[in-house]
Amino acid sequence: MAQIIDGKGVAANVRESVREDVEALKKNGVTPGLAVVIVGDDPASRTYVNNKKKACAQAGIYSEEYALPATTSQAELMELVDKLNHKKDINGILVQSPLPKGLDETAVVEAIAPEKDVDAFHPSNVGRIMIGNFHFLPCTPAGVIELLKSAGVEISGKNCVVIGRSNIVGKPMAMLLLHQNGTVTICHSKTHNLKEICRNADILIAAVGRRHFVTADMVKPGAAVIDVGINRDENGKLCGDVDFAEVEKIASCITPVPGGVGPMTIAMLLRNTVTAAKLQNGLEA
Ligand code: NAD
Repeated sequence: MAQIIDGKGVAANVRESVREDVEALKKNGVTPGLAVVIVGDDPASRTYVNNKKKACAQAGIYSEEYALPATTSQAELMELVDKLNHKKDINGILVQSPLPKGLDETAVVEAIAPEKDVDAFHPSNVGRIMIGNFHFLPCTPAGVIELLKSAGVEISGKNCVVIGRSNIVGKPMAMLLLHQNGTVTICHSKTHNLKEICRNADILIAAVGRRHFVTADMVKPGAAVIDVGINRDENGKLCGDVDFAEVEKIASCITPVPGGVGPMTIAMLLRNTVTAAKLQNGLEA
């Protein structure tokens, strides 16, 4: 049976180290601040925003919420981002996605000052990640790397397969594995021979968004399996992309859903907010 990677536990450790960092910063007169912008009333987004605010409070990070109606115009949203870019007590800006239809998410992301872009979605930060000269790492992929490290998984020289090529998970995930000297393959909806490619993976990362997508016959015995997916099963319960019950029997380690990658995403957001506060105050990050 696989080792179950305890994302909650690893995230709690990251959050505790962030809390200690915040305490030290406050002694230097710096309180890290995060602005969270939510537009519309998507229930999942509301839950994410509430969790992020709660996590900030526990870490001692100052947070502000800007809840705007779904009828908000692009110009109004851009005006708010501009205001937050100039707000001294705000070091990080997070605009919760998805935005309601009609709003241009790309334009909003590009309007955020790169030094306050704690999601690391701005093209300038994406480019920095590409060349390996970055301040912030995208939260979910960075969380995955932490989980692999916590389980003692060596990435260097290993065959790493990422299923999914989105800008927020798949692509940056592949890049971070590459920075760790993994040999990386990115698979997507047009990939041929997905099963064979996955069966060759020492480290398999699923970021598709389809339940039971990764079955046991796609997994090499002894592989490390990280499940980024967040789905609902037939009973409405949260589940990932991986057929956990079957894959657990052959993997060396595996993340559960919930309790795997999810908690890490918020922990890494807190870490990025502290990094942003340090950089904006001329302190070493
Ligand atoms: P997305 O929809 O943008 O991307 C899905 C990817 O899956 C695409 O690149 C697509 O090519 C690929 N795909 C679809 N069908 C495929 C197939 N048949 N074979 C191979 N590849 C296929 O989604 P995303 O934003 O990258 O998110 C992926 C999943 O991760 C979702 O379930 C999302 O909810 C979850 N997620 C979790 C966290 C977290 O904190 N745990 C954070 C972000 C996203």
